[in-house]
Amino acid sequence: MTSPPPPPGPTTRASAVQESLTRPRAVDGTVLDKRVAMVDLIDADSFRDLLSSFSDLYRVGIKVFDDAGNRMVDVRVGNSALCGYLWEFGGTRQACTKLVTGLKNDAFAARDGLPQPHIVDCFTGLRYVVVPLVYEGDAMGRLILGPYLPADRPGLAEQLYSIDSRVERQRAELLLERVRRAPEDVIGKVLTQLGRVIDVVLHTSMRQLLTSQLHIMSVTTSYHELEERARQLREQNEKLQELDKMKSNFLATVSHELRTPLTSVIGYSEMLLEGIAGNLVGEQRDFVQTIKEKGASLLALITQLLDASRAESGNLSLQIVEFDPTPVLAGATTSIVPQCAKKKIELTVDLAPGLPVLKGDRDKVGNIVVNLLGNAMKFTPQGGRITLSAQRWSGPRPPRGNDCQALFGVPAEDFVRIVVQDTGIGIPADKVGRVFERFYQVDDSSTREFGGTGLGLAIVKSFVDAHRGEVFVESVVGEGSRFTVLLPV
Ligand code: ADP
Repeated sequence: MTSPPPPPGPTTRASAVQESLTRPRAVDGTVLDKRVAMVDLIDADSFRDLLSSFSDLYRVGIKVFDDAGNRMVDVRVGNSALCGYLWEFGGTRQACTKLVTGLKNDAFAARDGLPQPHIVDCFTGLRYVVVPLVYEGDAMGRLILGPYLPADRPGLAEQLYSIDSRVERQRAELLLERVRRAPEDVIGKVLTQLGRVIDVVLHTSMRQLLTSQLHIMSVTTSYHELEERARQLREQNEKLQELDKMKSNFLATVSHELRTPLTSVIGYSEMLLEGIAGNLVGEQRDFVQTIKEKGASLLALITQLLDASRAESGNLSLQIVEFDPTPVLAGATTSIVPQCAKKKIELTVDLAPGLPVLKGDRDKVGNIVVNLLGNAMKFTPQGGRITLSAQRWSGPRPPRGNDCQALFGVPAEDFVRIVVQDTGIGIPADKVGRVFERFYQVDDSSTREFGGTGLGLAIVKSFVDAHRGEVFVESVVGEGSRFTVLLPV
């Protein structure tokens, strides 16, 4: 078999193909390092359509296989009847199978490192041109053009009839008429055109693939960065929580240790006042009285700190009993009666008769009211008014933040509603949402007029929460505040 010089084919821009075929590639490197298969690169349907139109135009069959041997395009023109006829006989079928296997798999000879197209003559005398598809040094697959009958051949090859004697000459020659007869220069032109088109398709597809892959890479990188930041934040948050816990434990321990000696100081000053160690005279009595009073307020402060740290660490223990709230509420007012008299504040107590029995911690409920009354007292100027009222109340709980339940209607419940209202200084609208936070004070300046720790309302809130209740405040600066507590019956 003599082969004419190979026609020009779509091997343009190939460089160092052998090297590219053997070069080890990063499996998870950047997209630029990765080897791309033709099936992943181009849209198979449009590629097939494109090559079909080529095939229609020049009336020559075109096949394309990717690098792994997968058939991507198979357009047949004119030869089907002849090939189908020859497939009927064992000898020609065998020869045909061998030829097709070679077309698909035979390696390309290389010249100057570039794979070269080659010509394959079929045992029938028809001819194929097999062209390597190379892009940027990467072997992408092969294109097979044919079969066609070279223009200088008179007809089918004589050897065909010796391969299988059953092949009828007349019939075979008749079927040959449907096969394209083409001079080599026409085939050369077809290949040049095809080469350009495939190059453009590969180039455009590669650009699109790179753009999208780079986009995915940048998104993935940002995602990893965000993940890393989230991890750092989580770590810092855990550290802060640990520190917060240490601080609470410290507070709880110190407060507890301070209470014991302080109780003795108060106890001994009470004994001195009662004259157990002999009668006190003049200023002695006043001084001991002051020691007792200051000791008591220090004890109240320490108790507050202890309550707050217990509530925070979830160690709040409740002594649950069933109790009538009326005497508890009335008892709480006694804590502010003397100061009311001193500041000429009018105290009104309006407790509805027959309040329902509550199940909860009697002391803590008392504490809630004492705290609210204490604040009302503290923040109401001379001549003001404080009202403590309580009644049975049925209704829905107030919605919290973006509580979705509010959209569907909150079910009504039975509560004892306790309201502490004053005509004091009020709380600015932008601060009112924070007063239940620990250590929060509207006036936190060192020159502030009112004493306190900023813990009272936080304790109130934790006690109310422990009773599954609600507490909220409405306030107008200069007019007064109204704290409402709902305790479920
Ligand atoms: P404090 O020990 O400062 O009273 P609280 O937790 O009891 O701490 O209250 C927090 C802050 O809420 C107070 O410092 C004050 O600014 C504001 N506040 C509480 N109750 C009233 C009230 N009845 N009238 C005006 N402001 C109030």
